[in-house]
Formats: sequence, structure tokens, C-alpha cells
Amino acid sequence: MPEELERKNDTQEEHTNSNNEEKTPSEERHKEKIGKPVVIKADAYKTIILYASRYANQAIKPEEWKEIYGVLIGSTTDEIVIVEGAEALTFGHATDVQLDERHYGFIERIENKIYKEEKGYYIIGWFHSHPGLGLFFSYIDLINQLGFQGKNDDAIGLVFDHTLLGKKKEEKIGDNVLTKYDTGFEIYRLTEVDMGINTPDYDNNYHKVDYIESIL
Ligand SMILES: [Zn+2]
Repeated sequence: MPEELERKNDTQEEHTNSNNEEKTPSEERHKEKIGKPVVIKADAYKTIILYASRYANQAIKPEEWKEIYGVLIGSTTDEIVIVEGAEALTFGHATDVQLDERHYGFIERIENKIYKEEKGYYIIGWFHSHPGLGLFFSYIDLINQLGFQGKNDDAIGLVFDHTLLGKKKEEKIGDNVLTKYDTGFEIYRLTEVDMGINTPDYDNNYHKVDYIESIL
């Protein structure tokens, strides 16, 4: 009860503080939905690339490329999500696997292991590869993401495609064109965690999350 009252007061305060223009609250809500940006440490990135490359690379025929899955380990602050490491789920290499009891059992064992290390880290999301398929969330990916984000608002899903890694991409900043080399991955979150999974538009219920790679 007191909590509810508190929340009501918060909302009122927000309304009195914000401009009278309709735009402001919706912009604020938008910002909230985008959520915390991500810092991904080199160790995590390296693990994902090496593991994905074992099952899909130039020496393997594209028909034989396999997807890989795993979890992201790290911590969060009020501002950001920090991915310190990644741990592979060492089975299930078919296309678009819906995570089941086996995976969640495996994830629980990883969780217990991290807890025992006492570094304050926990599982903050998952990763999988889309060898040669490009970067997006499929419907099954969205359901998997819900498994993580349903429990933790900050949870993220990373998708990696080795065929994009190192490709040149040009980014226009004002009048300048900046040449960048693609990391080969994107990070996503669900936009509306509470949206029913049978909603016709559910396929679009996700967005990109900003990230930077840290070499430290
Ligand atoms: Zn996928």
C-alpha cells in the first residue's frame, strides 16, 4: 500500500515538473524503454567470436554452418550494463533453438558457479550466432529474450554473424564520413516486456541497444 502511494506521488511530480507539451512525457517513456547501454569487455567478445567461429567459418561449407548459444555474464550499475564474460551452452546447434529445460538447467549451473566466485557477477543476458543470416531477432529469439528480460529489465540479447565481422561500414557524422569496421554483432532488448506473445505485431517488439567495446 505505501509503495503504491509513493508511486502515485512520483507520477504526479513528474507531471508538474515536465513541460505542458504532450511530447515530453512520451519522449521520456521512450528513453526509459531503450534502457541502459552496454559496455562489452574484450574477454566476452573474444569468447563469442572464437566459439562461433568453430562452428561457422570460411573453411566450412555454408550449408554446414551451425548456430551457437550461450549466456553473458557481468553486472549492472544505475547507468550501464557491463558484460565481463561469456559462457557457451555446449549443445543444440540447430537453427533458432527455443531454449528449453536442458538449457535452463545448464544456465542454472553456470549461475551457481558465478555465485561461488563471489565477484558480484550474474547472468545478464544471452548470445547466439546467425551464421550468414544477418542481424535481427526471430520470433523464437524474442521468446528466448523474454525468458531473460521477464526476470530482469536490463537483460540483453546479443546476435553475432561472422560474415559481417571486419566489413567496412561508413557512418556519416555531419559532413564527415567515418569508416568503421563492423563488430559483426548487435545487441537487442524487447521494447514491451508485457506484450502478449500472440500479438500480431510481436515480431517487431524489439530494438537495438547502444554498446561500446572495452579493451580493458
Ligand atoms: Zn536467432
